[in-house]
Amino acid sequence: MTDLPSSAKIVIIGGGIVGCSTALHLGRMGQTDVILLERGRLTSGSTWHAAGLVGQLRTSANITRLLGYSVDLYDRLEAETGQATGWKRNGGLRLACRPERMIEVKRQATTARSFGLDMHVISPKEAQDLWPLMQVDDVVGAAFLPTDGQASPSDISAALAKGARMAGVTIREGVAVTGIAVENGRVVAVETDQGRIACEKVVICAGQWARAVGRMAGVNVPLVSIQHQYVITERIAGVTPTLPTLRDPDRLTYWKEEVGGLVMGGYEPNPKLWDVDPPPSPFEFQLLQPDFDHFEPIMELALGRVPALAEAGIKQMINGPESFTPDGNFILGEAPEVKNVFVGAGFNAFGIASGGGAGMALAEWVATGAPPFDLWTVDIRRFGRNHHDLDWLRTRTMEAYGRHYTMAWPSEEPEAGRPLRRSPLYDRLQQAGACFGEKLGWERPNWFADRAAGEEPVDRYSFERPNWFAAVAREHKAAREGAVLFDQTSFAKFELVGRDAEAALTWICANDVAKPAGRIVYTQMLNARGGIEADVTVTRLASDRYLIVTGTGFATHDFHWIASNIPDGLDARLVDVTSAQAVLVLMGPLARAILETLTRDDISNAAFPFGRAKRLSVAGCPVLALRVTYVGELGWELHVPVEFAATLYDALHFAGGPYGLANAGYRAIETLRLEKGYRAWGAEIGPDHSPLVAGLGGFVKLKTAIPFLGRAALEAQAAAPLPRLLAGFSADPSVTLLGRETIYRDGERVGWLAGGGFGHTVGRALGYGYVRRPEGVDRDFVLSGRYELDVAGERVPAEAFLEPPYDPTGIRIRA
Ligand SMILES: Cc1cc2nc3c(=O)[nH]c(=O)nc-3n(C[C@H](O)[C@H](O)[C@H](O)COP(=O)(O)OP(=O)(O)OC[C@H]3O[C@@H](n4cnc5c(N)ncnc54)[C@H](O)[C@@H]3O)c2cc1C
Repeated sequence: MTDLPSSAKIVIIGGGIVGCSTALHLGRMGQTDVILLERGRLTSGSTWHAAGLVGQLRTSANITRLLGYSVDLYDRLEAETGQATGWKRNGGLRLACRPERMIEVKRQATTARSFGLDMHVISPKEAQDLWPLMQVDDVVGAAFLPTDGQASPSDISAALAKGARMAGVTIREGVAVTGIAVENGRVVAVETDQGRIACEKVVICAGQWARAVGRMAGVNVPLVSIQHQYVITERIAGVTPTLPTLRDPDRLTYWKEEVGGLVMGGYEPNPKLWDVDPPPSPFEFQLLQPDFDHFEPIMELALGRVPALAEAGIKQMINGPESFTPDGNFILGEAPEVKNVFVGAGFNAFGIASGGGAGMALAEWVATGAPPFDLWTVDIRRFGRNHHDLDWLRTRTMEAYGRHYTMAWPSEEPEAGRPLRRSPLYDRLQQAGACFGEKLGWERPNWFADRAAGEEPVDRYSFERPNWFAAVAREHKAAREGAVLFDQTSFAKFELVGRDAEAALTWICANDVAKPAGRIVYTQMLNARGGIEADVTVTRLASDRYLIVTGTGFATHDFHWIASNIPDGLDARLVDVTSAQAVLVLMGPLARAILETLTRDDISNAAFPFGRAKRLSVAGCPVLALRVTYVGELGWELHVPVEFAATLYDALHFAGGPYGLANAGYRAIETLRLEKGYRAWGAEIGPDHSPLVAGLGGFVKLKTAIPFLGRAALEAQAAAPLPRLLAGFSADPSVTLLGRETIYRDGERVGWLAGGGFGHTVGRALGYGYVRRPEGVDRDFVLSGRYELDVAGERVPAEAFLEPPYDPTGIRIRA
């Protein structure tokens, strides 16, 4: 038995790189009543056998920022702790062997520049000069990131652990956590094989065991163990210690130097599960049996790149299990199920690269209750009801692993584990030619193929105009000129019920929701920094009842945000009603004419104006109709109990036939809303951006004296010049904007596009991004510049705008 303390403020479970980094950062933040418990010895899980490549570039600016933090930390860690780390900043090369890959690489270089990283596009010859051992006959080009590097995973973790101890954190090896005690929805203690530790907070950094450890607290950590292999060669002449790391996605392989030889690993398209649940324990410093047959195709691809490999002796073949997630991103943050249980796990074979930054972010999240910046891409609340089943998780995660090095096409959809969640209209939509996409397990029509014209409802991806471009243009035109019907049943829908529902939402919402029943309010919900945590419509159904509608993918996040911010003592309960109601959205100038034929209720503009909700009887169906729009046209969201959905859909199409009513999908919603300047959470708006910088200041009740969450931060921001402002950009229709294109104003880099697409009515490429300037940005500054966008390495002229390019109704709000 050890002398474990009987209590600690914070208990970290797991002593891999992520637990050690979290411990170091908590300690350095002055949190010293912290104990890290490791069942075996430090690093003995996945960390010790990692290959040690540290790359930084991801598609999210803030995840790249985390990885950049890792690099900065690893640069100084040895000096700070006196412990060697094996860290070398020798750069990273990425090859392209096909024209499409070269476009991808060029776009990545643009992304890197947008995010402040130095990444050069170079020729095959220049790549070979940096990596002389490789043959480049099939190489079209490459990109070089000079600040990437490599580390010794065990040493760097040992240095993090040493730094944590130096900062006052306690680390205990040989202590297994066997249970987590939860009372009244919050954690109170961990049970170990050597006694109980009462605690306020628990941080689960248990790698592949995190799913099992999470279950101890009733928390779902959706990750899967997959076998991952690499070889280490004997010394090879010409391999120097300064060799950059190398990624060769078309040959599915990665490389780095190690003791004069090479490490070479790869991502096979047919990964092998580590088929155990839960993973065995102990599994200390253990590996799995190497599978040469399985690795052979990777080896053959590798030999084509580095012929010297054929002559090199293989010193060791490593088969290490590692945790992977269904979307290839790691998992961070407070679990939505239990207060004060935090998770840092599922690192998808880039835990060494992420460890420094992820530990920093997690420590701040644990200590302050909020992440340092928007981490939605890795937030545990991005998962939902579809992420509980292990078999489904495995199916989807294996696909994600197999796609690690395949082309990352714009708008690419997953295929595995589908269909899972289906609206009651699914079969009808399929019959009508729907090409479905997937969000949080839901099948949602992205676009409709005109089979009579020979179109197939299949996505063919491209960096230029994809095969659905014409179909979306058709739907877009129908919405602008006639009428369309969207199935948006997957909307997340909550009801806030109780005597104090108004008081609770008045605190949580930035806009004024204290309205009479039947009013709809478009509002943001802000964090204490004034950043936008949710972007929703709030409809008052009765004095003690509100309906809150938000995007499909935000179901878990927004529910957690609202539920956890209801002030103590108020009578207000949040209920998820998503599965009870289907939502048909009828939009377009002819929407009223169609709906009128199906209801005896008065839906004239006078009787049913914009921003109102009414219960209607439509073709026998009890409908809650919301007069809102996210596409900039006259129309209604028709909420109906699921068992009426098919009847309502059929009736609308029957009535709409003479008016040319068309089915339309999510890709048309996107092009329509871009043209109308409506913001999307997770793209243009999110926790890092306030309504003021996002151009949504008109939806904030700052002119009243009503207190609300985030008010103080907004007031402070309003009192000074804004550091950035969201602007729209339009470019020649031949340009393809996808997001992350760098924005240049008068030749200076001022930001990047958060999202992009095409405006079919205005006939221009459109995108939105923040224009930044340390001394402040105002409308004049935005509008007075001469702009260019970097699109795959080419500067194209663009025009900035602050008013929507399409705005016939002048309605500036979604609700
Ligand atoms: C073959 C291979 C190559 C890789 N190459 C790279 C690379 O080049 N670059 C890169 O960035 N990443 C790489 N990785 C990924 C990297 O190794 C992992 O992402 C990283 O080590 C994960 O760290 P962790 O702290 O989350 O998990 P782990 O290192 O697994 O740590 C979790 C710890 O939790 C402990 N634990 C579990 N349950 C309990 C319990 N109940 N009580 C107490 N302790 C518990 C375990 O014993 C373990 O030590 C590679 C992985 C593999 C398998």
